[in-house]
Amino acid sequence: MQDMNKVAQTTRFRRFSAAVTFLRNSLRQLTNWPLAIGLLIGFAVFTIAALVVQTETDHELETLKNQANVHLLTLGARLEGEVNSNLVVLRGLRAEISINPDITHEELASLVSEYLFYYPAISHVALAPSLIVSDVYPLEGNEAAIGLNYRNQPDQLKGVMESIYNDDITLTGPINLVQGGRKFIGRIPVYSGSKKSELWGVVAVVLNMEKMLEAAGIDSFLWGMKVALRTRQMDGQKTEVMLGDAAVFGADAAMVDVVLPNLRWQLAAIPKNGWKLPYQKTQYWWLISVVLSVLAGVAAYLISANYRERLMAVENASFWANFDGLTGLPNRRYFNARFRSLIEEHRQQGSGFAVFNLDLDFFREVNDSWGHAMGDRVLRSFARRMSRTVRADDLVARLGGDEFIMVLQDIDSPAQAELLAENLQRELIEPYEMDDERFSITISLGISMFPLDGEDEETLLLNATRAKDEAKRAGRNRIAFFNEAISLEMSRHVEMHNEILEGIRTHQFELYYQPIQHLKTGQIHKCEALIRWHHPEKGLISPAEFIPVAEQTGVIRNLGDWVLQQACHDYQSFQDKGVNMSISVNRSPAEFFGRDCEQHWLDILEQNRMNNADLIFEITESLLMDDNEQQRKVIRNLRSKGVAVAIDDFGTGYSSLSYLRDYPMDFLKIDRSFVSGILHDTQMRTLTEVMIKMGQTLGIQVVAEGVETMQQQALLATLGCDYIQGYLLGRPMPLDDFIEFCLPRQAQSAVELS
Ligand code: C2E
Ligand code: MG
Ligand code: MG
Repeated sequence: MQDMNKVAQTTRFRRFSAAVTFLRNSLRQLTNWPLAIGLLIGFAVFTIAALVVQTETDHELETLKNQANVHLLTLGARLEGEVNSNLVVLRGLRAEISINPDITHEELASLVSEYLFYYPAISHVALAPSLIVSDVYPLEGNEAAIGLNYRNQPDQLKGVMESIYNDDITLTGPINLVQGGRKFIGRIPVYSGSKKSELWGVVAVVLNMEKMLEAAGIDSFLWGMKVALRTRQMDGQKTEVMLGDAAVFGADAAMVDVVLPNLRWQLAAIPKNGWKLPYQKTQYWWLISVVLSVLAGVAAYLISANYRERLMAVENASFWANFDGLTGLPNRRYFNARFRSLIEEHRQQGSGFAVFNLDLDFFREVNDSWGHAMGDRVLRSFARRMSRTVRADDLVARLGGDEFIMVLQDIDSPAQAELLAENLQRELIEPYEMDDERFSITISLGISMFPLDGEDEETLLLNATRAKDEAKRAGRNRIAFFNEAISLEMSRHVEMHNEILEGIRTHQFELYYQPIQHLKTGQIHKCEALIRWHHPEKGLISPAEFIPVAEQTGVIRNLGDWVLQQACHDYQSFQDKGVNMSISVNRSPAEFFGRDCEQHWLDILEQNRMNNADLIFEITESLLMDDNEQQRKVIRNLRSKGVAVAIDDFGTGYSSLSYLRDYPMDFLKIDRSFVSGILHDTQMRTLTEVMIKMGQTLGIQVVAEGVETMQQQALLATLGCDYIQGYLLGRPMPLDDFIEFCLPRQAQSAVELS
């Protein structure tokens, strides 16, 4: 279980390192582009400067517009005052005429001449009793107006009616006069009679626009701006420009209204050349922005180019100091540094690794016969194949000449190392094709294991080299472990690993069944499936011999799957023959390390239509000793699906009560070694008794293994043991024999029961 935590930790560490490397590489890529960085920064500075200049320009223009508005408001107010003061004359005239409706021309002349003196913008005054012009002052030039009947002049009548309706001064125009000219006319109605309620007629003043504008100080060009005045559109009338250029009334003009009795005019202004800041000022700002941007860009370029150069220099130096120029693999220096940290990492995680020291057999001959250039090419291909064969996080280095070193991480068993070494050897001895030549190469490879063969760099390297020398001495083209015993054993293991795989393929395995009897009732409804190997040359091989090897090389999983499948299959035979039986199958701890192993087993059960309640998994105490939630989950899941779990060989491990409490179990199998001693060894008997009591207390059924005599059986019965298994009852036997063994006994119990 700790192993799984270690694997998770290592994976996390590797992911983190990969992320850091990726970031570093990306940064390096970036620094290869100082020009891009210079341009980017220049552009960024220019954008910011442009924004600032634009905002400033907008602000200044706004101020200009505001100033123009203030000017216009002043002018507008002056013009309003000017027009209104001229129109006020009408009130005086109205008062005079309402008192003296029959005013003579002379009387009018003396009255008006005075007004005209003070109000030079009034060009003439007209009296229209009964809305027919009867008198005009001054008459000269206006004779044509005499006798004009407003009722016949539609454009005049409108203004006349409005003044009568409003009973106040009304300004209309501009209107074409009969005597010539186009003018604005101010009018007021006059009433007479004793109660001043009879409409006498209308008095009008005709205004001279030029004079009014002059008096108000308005001209078409003021303070560097074009100014214009027009009538504002009212009652569907068209606007008419009275001063300046119609184009001034554009959308962006500054504009104010001039409010007059019954009329509105509009005053507008735009700068002579449109709304622009003085040329030099804008240019000046843009120039500063461009210069700033160029300076910033150049500075960024220089800094990053300099940085890149330094980085590349450092990288080149560190690359050549750490890597081999020929193969591109890490060199001895890099290897030593990394190897030290690898040892530390594995020491902390409590995991092992393998060190391979290898070289090419007879490489000197390649160099001598084909030249060093060809030798170098072979070495390069060789190195490429090595890197390709191992996992990404394994370490491969060239120590010099044709000597290479590899560290294969997270390998705890020599058998795994041997398998990987064989795989590597197979890859490396494939012929090398160069320029129509084929080179066949063999390698000698020495293995040392951490921590088995050493716990520091020197010892591990020395021992791997010694092992390689041993391989050379033994005739080259071989793999040797530092430890000779291991070396031999590993070759045997690898051989057996392959033989087991072959054995599964060619049906060399068989399941035997050993009965388990219920002590109180004598019934036999349980059995244990035990694997047997009929080896074509070596004959029957005991599981005690091949199971431990299978566990080490990992082939136990293939074997375990076969056992489970076969047991399910045999279960169907029991059913067909009318034998009522549940089967125990053994599971090795190594089988629990796969991901979702329980789901895999449950799938096998389902595919084979096995009744889960008739299956018991036997596990060993050692599996429970690691405090691993994953294992607990597997056992919980199995039990929740109806599969029972038994602890096998109980008492031989650490027999701690605590794990029985943490892992709910169904059966507890007391190991044979206790049973064999219960009759004459009091300690054994006491321990057996304790184990039985413990089972009873925790509600777990107890099976005694290896019961060989009647006395043992009798004693176990007295101690309260639930089941017995052993030669006394029956040896493990082939399926057919077992069915024959069971049939009469189950029939007998049925009779006894009935
Ligand atoms: P185990 O699971 O404790 O199996 C009981 C072993 O005790 C069997 O040995 C059985 O033949 C033996 N035995 C039973 N009664 C007696 C007796 O009265 N006296 C003596 N001296 N021995 C008795 P076997 O079949 O040789 O199996 C040895 C071990 O191999 C098993 O121990 C089990 O741990 C393992 N094994 C067997 N089959 C499998 C399998 O399919 N998978 C796994 N993982 N392990 C298996
Ligand atoms: Mg067993
Ligand atoms: Mg056992």
